Amino acid sequence: MSSFVWDLLTLFPEIISVYVHSGILGRAVEDGKITVRVHDLRDFTQDKHRTADDYPYGGGAGMVMKPEPIFLAVDRVRELAPESRIILMSPQGRPFDQEEAGRLARGSRAVTLICGRYEGVDARVSEHLVDDEISIGDYVISGGELAALVVLDAVSRCLPGVVGDERSVSTDSFYQGILKHPQYTRPESYRGMRVPEMILSGHHEKIRRFQRFKALEKTFRNRPDLLDKAELTEEDQEMLNRIRRGERTEA
Ligand code: SAH
Repeated sequence: MSSFVWDLLTLFPEIISVYVHSGILGRAVEDGKITVRVHDLRDFTQDKHRTADDYPYGGGAGMVMKPEPIFLAVDRVRELAPESRIILMSPQGRPFDQEEAGRLARGSRAVTLICGRYEGVDARVSEHLVDDEISIGDYVISGGELAALVVLDAVSRCLPGVVGDERSVSTDSFYQGILKHPQYTRPESYRGMRVPEMILSGHHEKIRRFQRFKALEKTFRNRPDLLDKAELTEEDQEMLNRIRRGERTEA
């Protein structure tokens, strides 16, 4: 299968490289499952000072990224990858989540992420250039690079063969609408804290029920909002009733 192509537009290209060459993403790059190209927006500026920002019309604090370098960089990307889906990273975008990650992974073969800086990006970019504007959450960070890496990472994990064991993706938090169950590794006892007996039992069905109970319990405690949308079985509902009554384990 051909490589999923990422084009990232940024004023800070050096930020991207270490992350995409580490761990699971690093292997995906090496195996050719994903291709990551980083474009320095500074290379698309048109004056000798390589100016990428300017004062906002109408006044106000801070600087705004000029449209020209971004439009020119997207022209270049469209020569390299005509089908690329152009996305602006912005706190004013549609919220990004696991469902959106899966949709992008299935629906595209190339995605371009525009990373803003300063007070943000000239509005003509979001109004006329991009296919989509995406936010990674309801907070403001200093630049779009981290946000772009979040999207690149989450979407790449959904591509076939990127995460070695597919089961690992399908049991991740959010994949089935709830959080993942707590996990333990050796030693069996650490500073008096014991791994729950149930998962040492070797009894697969009991372990499955125990882990499901714990996943529901964690979701109930930390993210009750997810339970309204999650697809829950009758068994789940019954476990939830017990969790609401304060029962600690499924046993
Ligand atoms: N003044 C802007 C925020 C600018 S932050 C506002 O209030 O909307 C600078 C850049 O960081 C943005 O252009 C965007 O690319 C990135 N950024 C900041 N927070 C983000 C978020 N939650 N999601 C995605 N990108 C974000």
